[in-house]
Amino acid sequence: MTFHDMWAELLPVGRDSASGGYRRFAWTEADADCRAWFAAQAEGRGLRLETDRNGNQWAWLGDPAAGDAVVTGSHLDSVPDGGAFDGPLGVVSAFAALDELRGRGARFTRPLGIVNFGDEEGARFGLACVGSRLTAGLLTREQAHRLTDGDGITLPRAMEAAGHDPDALGPDPERLARIGAFVELHIEQGRALDLSGDRVGIASAIWPHGRWRFDFAGEANHAGTTRPTDRRDPMLPYAETVLAARREAELAGAVATFGKIAVEPNGVNAIPSLVRGWLDSRATDQAGLDAVVAGVEKAARAYADAHGVDLDVVRESFTPVVEFDHALRGELARILGRDAGLRVPVLDTGAGHDAGILSGRVPTAMLFVRNPTGVSHSPAESATEDDCAAGVLALADVLEGLACT
Ligand SMILES: [Zn+2]
Repeated sequence: MTFHDMWAELLPVGRDSASGGYRRFAWTEADADCRAWFAAQAEGRGLRLETDRNGNQWAWLGDPAAGDAVVTGSHLDSVPDGGAFDGPLGVVSAFAALDELRGRGARFTRPLGIVNFGDEEGARFGLACVGSRLTAGLLTREQAHRLTDGDGITLPRAMEAAGHDPDALGPDPERLARIGAFVELHIEQGRALDLSGDRVGIASAIWPHGRWRFDFAGEANHAGTTRPTDRRDPMLPYAETVLAARREAELAGAVATFGKIAVEPNGVNAIPSLVRGWLDSRATDQAGLDAVVAGVEKAARAYADAHGVDLDVVRESFTPVVEFDHALRGELARILGRDAGLRVPVLDTGAGHDAGILSGRVPTAMLFVRNPTGVSHSPAESATEDDCAAGVLALADVLEGLACT
């Protein structure tokens, strides 16, 4: 089955007819359809299919027990109203690259695995990369069992309903020990390749990133009868803090975003008693990120004081910088640059990936494919057929260089 045919087969799965975006959430029907698609692709190529204890799917050529396996792949789930490429491009390209290598008559000297990591986006249970985090031992079974979706359904209940045993969840060091290299191909979530005029790039690092909750607590009162000077309105310092975040980020060459907000009592004609905003911030290095968050918090405290509002700031999650394996990166650059004659820029990114989670356990690298608008996590996400084909060839070259004679 060609790249085009695989893509066409996946395209309708989990697509919302109104928005045109994807809703492939973990352990739903759309997720089951994606998994069935993956299983059929593995079977069609004579690969051995495994679903591991954490619900990740693996398709093997050769015996992984031999060790030093080369693994490629990505994820098939999506954010709410996500695009078609984030995740699936890496999985479809993996199967297409294997077909390309078979067409070349390549002989494999290392086991080859194609992986579909479960619940990468965390759209349903609020935590990203659940499948790879569990496998790497960065999320415990107890923590995973406490994850709950917006309808109050826990992760174990959702898994059970989908026919997967939630008691089996846990670290999988033996599996990771058999992997000598993991290469994830992904749509670029920015415009660096578009600006440089290249189809494919190599990832250098994932920026450190985190989420902070800002609680501004004031006093609820009547929107019509309370004089401005008598108000303790938390919306005002919150609004000023949003602008401060933009300013601090620009100063540091970083990004800082308030993308989610909760207001109490949330009435049109009431001054709020509480405004809770979530700050997502990312920077090229730790010092830069610390400076941005400290700057935003300092400004927020000054604004809160000026309005007689109390402020509480809590760090909810944090992921340090991920530097991809230098030796493997160098090998990719050599294979693509010298042997295949491509110009392959090296890029860092502000987006998290399963490859970032695994990088502490397994030598890991990433390939990015050009995204002409840079838009991601949206139905507008795109890549041209030619660029997708260039991605498949680059991945095939890399796998041939790493795993074939
Ligand atoms: Zn992704």
